Amino acid sequence: MSDQDLQEEEATLIESEKPGAEGKQEAMEIAEAAREKEYRHPSFAGQLFMGKFVPSMLFPFPRQSEEDKKIGDEFIEKLETYLKNNLDPEEVDATREIPKKVIDDLAKMGVFAMKIPKEYNGLGFSVTNYNRAVMKVASYCGSTAVLISAHQSIGIPQPLKMFGTEEQKRKYFPGFREGKISAFALTEVDAGSDPAKIETEAKLSEDGKHYILNGTKLWCTNGTIADVIVVMACTAPKIVRGKEKKQITAFILEMDTPGVEVIQRCHFMGLNAIYNGAIKFTDVKIPVENLIWKEGRGLAMALATINIGRLTLPAASAGIGKQCLSIARRWGKERVQWGLPVGLHEAGREKIAYISATTFAMEAMSMLTSYWADEGSVDIRIEAAMAKLFCTESTWKITDLTMQLRGGRGYEKASSLMARGEPGYPVERAMRDCRINMILEGTSEIMRLFLAREAMDPHLRKLGDLIRKKLPTGQMVGKMLKILGHYSVWYPKQCVMSWVSSSHKDLGPLAKHFRFCERTSHKLARNIFYYMARYQKGLERRQMILGRLMEIGTELFAMAATCSYAASLHKEKPEDRTPIQLADYFCNMAKRRIKQHFRTLADNDDRQANKLAKSVMNDELKWLEEGIIWIGPEE
Ligand SMILES: Cc1cc2nc3c(=O)[nH]c(=O)nc-3n(C[C@H](O)[C@H](O)[C@H](O)COP(=O)(O)OP(=O)(O)OC[C@H]3O[C@@H](n4cnc5c(N)ncnc54)[C@H](O)[C@@H]3O)c2cc1C
Repeated sequence: MSDQDLQEEEATLIESEKPGAEGKQEAMEIAEAAREKEYRHPSFAGQLFMGKFVPSMLFPFPRQSEEDKKIGDEFIEKLETYLKNNLDPEEVDATREIPKKVIDDLAKMGVFAMKIPKEYNGLGFSVTNYNRAVMKVASYCGSTAVLISAHQSIGIPQPLKMFGTEEQKRKYFPGFREGKISAFALTEVDAGSDPAKIETEAKLSEDGKHYILNGTKLWCTNGTIADVIVVMACTAPKIVRGKEKKQITAFILEMDTPGVEVIQRCHFMGLNAIYNGAIKFTDVKIPVENLIWKEGRGLAMALATINIGRLTLPAASAGIGKQCLSIARRWGKERVQWGLPVGLHEAGREKIAYISATTFAMEAMSMLTSYWADEGSVDIRIEAAMAKLFCTESTWKITDLTMQLRGGRGYEKASSLMARGEPGYPVERAMRDCRINMILEGTSEIMRLFLAREAMDPHLRKLGDLIRKKLPTGQMVGKMLKILGHYSVWYPKQCVMSWVSSSHKDLGPLAKHFRFCERTSHKLARNIFYYMARYQKGLERRQMILGRLMEIGTELFAMAATCSYAASLHKEKPEDRTPIQLADYFCNMAKRRIKQHFRTLADNDDRQANKLAKSVMNDELKWLEEGIIWIGPEE
């Protein structure tokens, strides 16, 4: 691309941002302030971005202790038996209700206290056992899985475990063993991915004993039945260098406090029986002792807790993947068309191979990240985001392929199938239920941006102004020279190392994939650096380039986790080669995707896409909308 083309494209991108430019600055500042700056432990994927592949962090594949596994096995077996005998997921979907008795029985089993430490009367489960339980439930009934996880992954338990005072833990934790349920309320009508736009306000009362809460929250899962919620609100702004800075603070709010009103139960494409609502607060008094952590640290708290909280999504995704695999296997054999079972036509085999290998990869990522969360020696913020991004996007594809393999029956409701005596495989329900996972707890787009920020961090720390500001060439060269010492060694090393790797012979037949990961981490690192140097501050607007780079990192992490998992299973049972086959096929698919991402870094239609989108946004293509009956309100 010529310099002129580059400038023209940059102008298009900047131009398109003009309408929200000030808001963007504030949003970036707030996100940056909430970001955890230091890595107290190493990150496997963080090092990949810097061209370091550290296999010892994930190979041999870490396993749950026998003792912890036994606790999980016993509980999960009990849970499974209970659900199979007492909960009909199709009825839940049709009636939009989880029977009250089931919720009460689950509470008695301790399902809402899995994450609560034993000293507060909880079950004190490891993250691994908790996620295994969620996987089981998600494979069966999405709405019930969400009931459990919205309470425990983002509701009161996780934030209080990490940031609560002893008094707060003593007051709220035991209730979750007795059937109390919690929720998390951040989103508002104008504040979705961008929490800087939160308007709900919490003003300290004159006597300093309460915060007075006013505002409305949207889409609070469990909000219509919760006893207590975490609510995010703006407290008094801080003045920093003469400028007002918004302070977002987290509070514990008891839902029976006067002034709290559930104004709507919201309904969605799937997850029909989630208790999700819009909640209005009018002069609600929150005692000051219900503040979580510190004023202004609400978003930092949310980001820290979500690192562990969002691990339920990869686990749930693996559960859905396994359910689809089971359906694909059965139907693939049973349905015969054109003289062959549909699973044996090559187009069917391709689908089944993708579903099985990708489900295996999701399980590997889920188990590895859960184990790391328990062990606490790895900073999992990057890996958790990668697992969330990869697994939620993959499940959507898996449900789509399963639906295609099922043909018309995939599109038909289980109840309708059963009405004429056919097995009620719930493919359309699984598809409806899993779609939201690419949106909540951070959309896929936000995950890629989050990963990009973390990937660039080591360079930003070194390069400072060179990247943050667009400097004239002269100044840029001056600054460059200063850091030349480091990069004159680092960059050529990444080039050379892209061609060499260790043997990784412990991985046996999968060693070649570890070698690919090692070599490609260097290629990825130098590409990240190259695009940072090329676009400088403008790189943050190049979301398509950043997205491809982050997808490459995510695929590498998925490959490494999958190979390690397969090698460990194979070692346990050498006569069974299926884990190796799964990992090998998965890695071959991932490699092809990685190569494609590298190719499209240089050879793409980004410029055209930007121009075309600009034309649409400028109403220049309105003529193309002619010929329809417009459903929404008039402009
Ligand atoms: C079923 C359901 C349950 C939910 N449960 C909860 C809950 O319990 N508690 C809670 O607080 N919230 C909850 N939410 C809200 C959920 O977290 C938000 O929907 C999500 O954060 C996205 O916000 P949004 O929908 O407003 O989309 P927006 O933020 O408006 O985004 C719209 C689109 O723009 C993209 N986008 C936004 N910003 C950028 C950017 N900077 N760069 C590129 N693309 C961008 C997004 O990725 C998305 O594709 C729930 C939502 C649903 C539907």
